[in-house]
Amino acid sequence: MTAQPSAQRRARILAIANQKGGVGKTTTAINLATGLADAGKRCLIIDLDPQGNASTGLGFPANAREITSYNAIAGETDLTAALTETGYDNLHLVPASVDLSGLDAELIDDPDRATRLQSLIEDTHVVDIRSAYDYILIDCPPSLNLLTVNAMVAADSVIVPLQCEFFALEGLTQLLETVRIVQGNLNPGLKIRGIVLTMFDQRNRLSFQVAEDVRENLGDIVFDTIIPRNVRLSEAPSYAMPALKYDASCAGSKAYVALTAELLAGDGHSHAA
Ligand code: ATP
Ligand code: MG
Repeated sequence: MTAQPSAQRRARILAIANQKGGVGKTTTAINLATGLADAGKRCLIIDLDPQGNASTGLGFPANAREITSYNAIAGETDLTAALTETGYDNLHLVPASVDLSGLDAELIDDPDRATRLQSLIEDTHVVDIRSAYDYILIDCPPSLNLLTVNAMVAADSVIVPLQCEFFALEGLTQLLETVRIVQGNLNPGLKIRGIVLTMFDQRNRLSFQVAEDVRENLGDIVFDTIIPRNVRLSEAPSYAMPALKYDASCAGSKAYVALTAELLAGDGHSHAA
């Protein structure tokens, strides 16, 4: 990896966040990043969830992770030391550690605790990370804790996966309020990049209702692409592969390719290769 002057290209940083558990954050982080990587974009996934699902899903179970996002945020190392290749072209990973779950308490007296990830990403001492990648996706834990705040402070924008089920909108107000607080304090430029409807089940009337409801309430920030409920998406992590590599032709993978194209088009790229 060669560092380039930061003025040339700067990675877009996307935090994938929703404090609700199991809504498709990690599935979206892995498959959107893979879609972007397949489109020729240099991508980095930062796993910021103590559960480490993005790391496991990319072939790094807990015992295969050496230096992690925990070591970097705890101040033991820089982020470059935690970077690892995934075996997929254009796709790198900073794996997570279960130790991340103790960070809130560990950093309680540190006035800069919310800006630690931002400082790590902006640190050009070894490698200029923002120049080395086109996209950095941060997989957040299911909580609005210090880790998610670090992600939002470091990010340019937030992508919110929303499961098409009853109560989908519950908690969204709190999430948007957290975004507003971060905008008001540490990251005025933070944007909501979009809401992604996930696990859409076309045999279930409720899915249609929820999708309609969300579009009615939040219209313009909802991605056109809807991710269907698809068993291949849930199987892929057990083979430690992105769904896009496990079964490129399944409905779930096709939806994530469409989401990639929609994101790239919105970012001013004419097409996803
Ligand atoms: P957590 O809050 O625990 O981090 P999450 O929001 O990251 O969860 P995922 O881990 O992506 O959610 O998804 C939760 C579960 O649902 C996983 O088992 C995943 O494989 C499965 N899943 C995700 N998206 C889909 C989908 N579209 N269709 C079917 N299963 C899915
Ligand atoms: Mg997750």
